[in-house]
Amino acid sequence: MDFTLTEEQRMIVQAARDVARDFPPEYWREVDQKHEFPEEYRKAAVEAGFLGTIIPEKYGGAGLGMLDMCICIEALSSGGCGISGMWTIGPTAIFGTVPITRHGSKAQKEKYLPRMASGELEFCMGLTEPDAGSNTLNTQTTAVKEGDEYIINGRKVFITNADRAGGMLLITRTTPLEEAASKIMGLTLFLVDLPDPAVEVVPIPKHGLHCVNSCDVFIDDLRVSEDDILGKKGKGWLPLLDVLNPERVGVSAGVIGCGFLALGKAVDYAKKRKVFGRPIGAHQAIQFPLATAKAKLETARLMTYKAAWLMDNGKECMAETSMAKLMAVEAGEYAVYHAMQTFGGYGYAVEYDIERWWREVNLWRLAPVTQEMTLAGIGQHVLGLPSSY
Ligand SMILES: Cc1cc2nc3c(=O)[nH]c(=O)nc-3n(C[C@H](O)[C@H](O)[C@H](O)COP(=O)(O)OP(=O)(O)OC[C@H]3O[C@@H](n4cnc5c(N)ncnc54)[C@H](O)[C@@H]3O)c2cc1C
Repeated sequence: MDFTLTEEQRMIVQAARDVARDFPPEYWREVDQKHEFPEEYRKAAVEAGFLGTIIPEKYGGAGLGMLDMCICIEALSSGGCGISGMWTIGPTAIFGTVPITRHGSKAQKEKYLPRMASGELEFCMGLTEPDAGSNTLNTQTTAVKEGDEYIINGRKVFITNADRAGGMLLITRTTPLEEAASKIMGLTLFLVDLPDPAVEVVPIPKHGLHCVNSCDVFIDDLRVSEDDILGKKGKGWLPLLDVLNPERVGVSAGVIGCGFLALGKAVDYAKKRKVFGRPIGAHQAIQFPLATAKAKLETARLMTYKAAWLMDNGKECMAETSMAKLMAVEAGEYAVYHAMQTFGGYGYAVEYDIERWWREVNLWRLAPVTQEMTLAGIGQHVLGLPSSY
């Protein structure tokens, strides 16, 4: 077993660190406070080729895998961008490039991938609904065939980047749940061009990550072509998993990076800050949690890389992906929590960034899948315990 990064991966880390150096925490503090999209950062990320990581070379990308993407996301995050760095490019880099690269027709690849690699096109994913969050299979948005077209009606919630995106991976039902041969049948994925008069997008005020909006999306008689189906009609569940698993490992990498970022800042501070005449880092109440955070982050990173490696090698990865997401969020939160404690009252002040990172890491207990549902998945599908639902 070889844990060393390849030459190419070391170059990805270096490129990500170079970008992160140009966009330090002060930059993210400002865009967060102003609720402003980080245009300059996105431009730099596109120029560095990060949006094209997964996209095949013939469509303008680098043709790399999820492990490379995770390495890039983590380096951006730990280099100073925090989770905002991932949040800005993730909707396109994961929701757009991954499913179209893996399941798109030739025409769909030609239409979307080069424009995503060049930064011209942003993407989003419309999965969650008011009654289909943890219970994804309860999707109520319908797509009804009429001639060569489908008419789509429904409502999606929390759709990140929907107000900017020129395209959406939209999850619908072409067969109602009650009539489907099994719960996972009848889902159909569409690639939808935005904006469209039939789609109303309304940002939802939220707790953190203010530089990119998550939105209510109301869909009223949206007409799309049969050619806009991604994969096969009624068989969207497996291609959807091919987006959700990469999303979870990508998120894990970003959260781990943010944990390392906060930990680094806390360690520096614990060495310098003297209380009662000695550095606070000498006290075990400060030192041990920071040491524990380091161990937790390193361990979560190993599982994240393993899950991404399995994914890239076409192997079953559901268990590892779930365990990586669970532990990455625990480790990231633990690190940021103890960074805040190390800073004492200053951890609560905006100018030290830790309160912002705290708001950033907290999202991932809830999204893209809650920690509880992640545990339920491990309990049932890995340990074989009975289902509670
Ligand atoms: C800022 C933000 C951005 C997002 N971006 C997107 C996006 O771009 N695209 C998209 O499609 N979605 C997005 N989401 C949605 C996100 O994936 C969902 O919020 C998440 O899956 C949880 O669903 P829910 O909010 O409906 O919670 P619910 O499903 O209502 O769950 C509520 C609580 O009940 C618990 N619970 C429910 N069932 C069980 C059970 N059987 N066992 C144990 N506990 C259970 C859950 O763990 C949770 O704690 C985003 C959400 C947020 C907050």
